[in-house]
Amino acid sequence: MEANANNIWSNCLIFIKDNIQSQAYKTWFEPIVPVKIFENSLSIQVPSKFFYEWLEEHYVKILKIALIKELGKDARLVYVIKMENTFGNKTPFTESIPSSNQVGINPQDVDAPLKTYSNELKNPFVIPGIRNLQIESQLNPNYNFENFLEGDSNRLARSAGLAVSNKPGGTSFNPLMVFGGVGLGKTHLAHAIGVDIKEKYPEKTVLYISAEKFTQQYIESVKKNTRNDFIHFYQIIDVLIIDDVQFLSGKSGTQDVFFHIFNHLHQNGKQVIITSDKAPVDMQDIEQRLLSRFKWGLSAELQLPDLETRISILKNKLYRDGVTIGENIIEFVAKNIKTNVRELEGAIISLIAQSSFNRVEIDLELAKEIVNKFVKNTKREVSIDYIQKVVSEYFQMDISTLQSKTRKRHIVQARQLAMYFAKKFTKASLASIGSQIGKRDHATVLHACKTVDNLSFTDKQFRKYVEDLNQKLSI
Ligand code: ADP
Ligand code: MG
Repeated sequence: MEANANNIWSNCLIFIKDNIQSQAYKTWFEPIVPVKIFENSLSIQVPSKFFYEWLEEHYVKILKIALIKELGKDARLVYVIKMENTFGNKTPFTESIPSSNQVGINPQDVDAPLKTYSNELKNPFVIPGIRNLQIESQLNPNYNFENFLEGDSNRLARSAGLAVSNKPGGTSFNPLMVFGGVGLGKTHLAHAIGVDIKEKYPEKTVLYISAEKFTQQYIESVKKNTRNDFIHFYQIIDVLIIDDVQFLSGKSGTQDVFFHIFNHLHQNGKQVIITSDKAPVDMQDIEQRLLSRFKWGLSAELQLPDLETRISILKNKLYRDGVTIGENIIEFVAKNIKTNVRELEGAIISLIAQSSFNRVEIDLELAKEIVNKFVKNTKREVSIDYIQKVVSEYFQMDISTLQSKTRKRHIVQARQLAMYFAKKFTKASLASIGSQIGKRDHATVLHACKTVDNLSFTDKQFRKYVEDLNQKLSI
């Protein structure tokens, strides 16, 4: 039988490898060992419980698809966990856990085929007697106030959130708008408010929905001619949480319908909670009347957490995962990763993963290696606008000059440098770089990249430009 399990698993791996990033594949799939196959169920051995949880949280969907392809729609997955701390033992303890194919823990996984339970938003459009309808909140209980650590960076937003959850609809924080950059805790806080309200007021209908999903539902309802039902469904909700509202930018139909729903809820003393990656004043392509509604309540910003808060977030996370890591390592990670909390967590998780499957201790060396990768990755996230700004400042010209049609040598060179760095530091295509830097075509950008390469070999002064700019853009 063993060969069979191997075959099936290696077919699954081919599919998985094709569909996820190679680093993730290496980290999470290479260490897995297929154990046996019995009827429709494949057992795989994973290095630790943490590893199992991670797979379930992030890769259950792709695992299912791969398994169904191999074993048919009744496929099952069983994890066998090699218990940690069994280094000296000849036969490691093992523990089997059936995959969430049966138990289901991932709320993002609502349309996964194998799941026997459903937390899908009950379809509001076909069921009559809508007032008796139980609406699933779509809340993630793992995002709660208890594990949303407080710091200067989030104090206002967090306390406003608590105030709202004590008296939904009954404070002047309506709507409550939480805004801030990626990975700073908007989604976490939004869920926490909902979870807390559900605990204090079980009878209240709470709904968490991303603006993206809201938009999809709306479009669907228009297609099916059920726009009124859609509106009606949202109007009976007591606490509506809309995540990443900036997604509505430029979508005037959805904005319109949201405006009506918002007004109705607000007039009836219902609570609305909104998150966005920008402050209301900076939102683009959102209708003025909607923006002015957002400003009725309170806008609270989530800022970058300071070092102290970063350390406590890490410690708390490790504590919850039951992992102990030296103080100096925690501090090292927290000191070096400042951009956002998601990356902070990502770094520590990679660290644990690396050490757990390589069976090496987490030491400062390993921490440095991993943090380096993270920091490098984040450096790459500069925008083309930013590159143009840095380059034109460096050559003391306006961006419009840099983009102009002129053939003056120093301007052409500046423009070529901007293109070169856009290629180097962003994921944009040649065509898109060209169109953003003075409306050129992709061939021009390609030519620019080659020219910069050549000149930095042959021209010492030019090489200095490249080095200077590279340094400015890498910070
Ligand atoms: P956003 O929605 O702003 O992009 P998320 O809410 O998804 O960010 O947060 C990213 C990660 O950081 C999540 O895992 C979240 O639990 C964690 N996080 C953010 N802020 C905090 C905090 N104050 N305390 C604990 N964890 C946090
Ligand atoms: Mg989010």
